[in-house]
Amino acid sequence: MKGVAILGSTGSIGRSALEVIRSNPGRFRVVALAAGDNTELLKEQAEEFKPDFVSVSGKEAAARLGKILKAPVGAGVEGAEEAARCKGADVVISAISGAAGLLPTLAAIRAGKAIALANKETLVLAGALVMEEARRHGARIIPVDSEHSAVFQSLAGHRKEDLKRVVLTASGGPFLNKPVQELDNVTPAEALKHPRWSMGRKISIDSATLMNKGLEVIEASHLFGLPGARISVVIHPQSVVHSMAEYVDGSIISQMSVPDMKGPIAYALSLPERIGGVTKPLELSGLRLDFMEPDLKMFPCLALAYSALQAGGTAPAALNAADEEAVAMFLNGRIPFTGIYRVISEVMGAFSPKPIKTIEDVLEADRIARLAAASVKALS
Ligand code: MG
Repeated sequence: MKGVAILGSTGSIGRSALEVIRSNPGRFRVVALAAGDNTELLKEQAEEFKPDFVSVSGKEAAARLGKILKAPVGAGVEGAEEAARCKGADVVISAISGAAGLLPTLAAIRAGKAIALANKETLVLAGALVMEEARRHGARIIPVDSEHSAVFQSLAGHRKEDLKRVVLTASGGPFLNKPVQELDNVTPAEALKHPRWSMGRKISIDSATLMNKGLEVIEASHLFGLPGARISVVIHPQSVVHSMAEYVDGSIISQMSVPDMKGPIAYALSLPERIGGVTKPLELSGLRLDFMEPDLKMFPCLALAYSALQAGGTAPAALNAADEEAVAMFLNGRIPFTGIYRVISEVMGAFSPKPIKTIEDVLEADRIARLAAASVKALS
């Protein structure tokens, strides 16, 4: 049985991973679960899956849960790191949302675990350093993000020298067909309504601005060792083609399936084997596939991400931090939807990227950008 640790077990990816594990008895064993504030759900998960170790974000919640479970419960970043290093874990699912996922994922890499990577921020913030650590510790990184899983599968069995570019697909989010001038007035509730995928709040807003795709371009650059110029984005509203690899002979290899995160999660846990029955089959008759160029007037955040990737060093970390702050401001009703781009753009305009030597350089850029984002709130 494969031992699985899940960082972010109460989030959207964590819950889907547990569904995959639940419906495949005898194949996986849950050895560690780390969650944030949802102690109630974590308790249920712990009682059902009986992991060796669990962790929550707060110390008091950890003490309370420890009494109920009659076992030591970890807390905070240290607790999540301990879950990541858990002895019985063959694979660690990294699914804590946002920059908070970086340190626990690094802990898993340094423990030489296979990483099923759903937390894209790990590579956005410190891609070169993280990939180098993974090489040094023999930790395999398997993408869970549906686009990167699709590229990973489209590259398998082909020669890297023959690859022309990879093409990431984007659904375009809920505002794809809205006139640009109406974007000022969209509400958080409208922006959270993703047409194809059911996801957490932060990533749903990032999908509406296309910043999610921008972060995925940066993630792909590190995962597959490609410059931004060889990573394209195409709008594909049906979300059936999950991404593609184009080769020098004009052939395009893609991975298609119904949009359901359980697919890439199951593949990351079981590859090279494939598990049946995890997702519904894709109905081919009547299937229509549309592709179009993204409109950068509609989605200016995408261009910011390409610029940050080009600038390199700590620029992507600052971009991510500014975005996290701006999205929180929008969700709190403090800035309009279009203010997200304005906040990030202003922060990045004033930010001087530095080379990344240690993780501290990344954390410092993150702090600076968050402070800068907080001080441009007057923009609203
Ligand atoms: Mg994705």
